[in-house]
Amino acid sequence: MAVTEAEMRLEARPARVYVGLYDRLPHPGLGPVQEFVFDLGITATRPVVLTDVVWRVYDQTDHVAAVRQRLGQAAMHELTLGQYGVAPGMGLIIPRCYFLEQGALPLSHVRVSAAGYDYETQAAVTAVLEIPLVYHQQRAKLRLPVADGAWWAITGNDWSSMHKADPVSWTFAYDFVRLGPDGQTFTGRGLRNEDHYSFGQPVLAPAAGKIVQVRADMPDQPPGQPLDADQLAGDAVRLAGNVVVIGHGRGEFSYLAHLQSGSVQVQVGDMVKKGQPVAAVGNSGHSPGPHLHYHFQDGPNLFVDRGLPVMFSDFMAVGDRVQQATIPSRMIVSPAR
Ligand SMILES: [Zn+2]
Repeated sequence: MAVTEAEMRLEARPARVYVGLYDRLPHPGLGPVQEFVFDLGITATRPVVLTDVVWRVYDQTDHVAAVRQRLGQAAMHELTLGQYGVAPGMGLIIPRCYFLEQGALPLSHVRVSAAGYDYETQAAVTAVLEIPLVYHQQRAKLRLPVADGAWWAITGNDWSSMHKADPVSWTFAYDFVRLGPDGQTFTGRGLRNEDHYSFGQPVLAPAAGKIVQVRADMPDQPPGQPLDADQLAGDAVRLAGNVVVIGHGRGEFSYLAHLQSGSVQVQVGDMVKKGQPVAAVGNSGHSPGPHLHYHFQDGPNLFVDRGLPVMFSDFMAVGDRVQQATIPSRMIVSPAR
């Protein structure tokens, strides 16, 4: 009896991947660098044991700019946490395929090649996927979403950031924490939200636009006590706490999250000016302590739309006034006066 050959299929989430190209940074010693991240899904028509995955990143002249490979079952075991068998109807996910590449050479696509064998017949099985890499030309000119003071970008664009674990709308998110005159983030033991310099600070519209989404029913969490499963009430969007989303037109949206309970001053449909207060910094939702979460995305919905890299305009960093630049993680910035 003839056995049908196994077929393996690859898919990426998202299907087209935005690249953050950071060629304008607030210090000449930084960058240029570019980064992107995606999840890889693998499905098969028959049980397949995965042995090799190779990622080749191509530049726009069709040269290979970077290669990463994981070969052999030991590597597969490590890569997929022991789940390297692809079962029909189940599939396998390789999360967070993250690339950080030096230089500003324009990239075009990633070619992923996967190889394995049919668990029963031992026949070789392969699959290839080309994932387009795209660059977003930012149109909105964004100011910092805070009024004054020194703000530590605990996560920003480029390198280490918890946000890159999920290649959805918050891939390129920022978390801002205000520093006090003592250079600390809170006074005393920081056990109360009020001890934190961020808490209650005005949150400003980074550019003019229309309010497209508001959530204002979430309480502030005590510092160090993130939401538990009950408080999510089956709605994962509650992770973001109180939220204001501003549409700037032409497919660009600002997402401001973890806002203070009772602070939201706008409603869906309101038009806001650049720099207009919309809420205050809080600690609602899944937040370790008072901070402002900001990200830029290509649609209004948290889990559906894709995150965009962000440049801010007219801010102070390392003693310089910066016209327009990406803010790297860990930099301390202030709005220009
Ligand atoms: Zn955040």
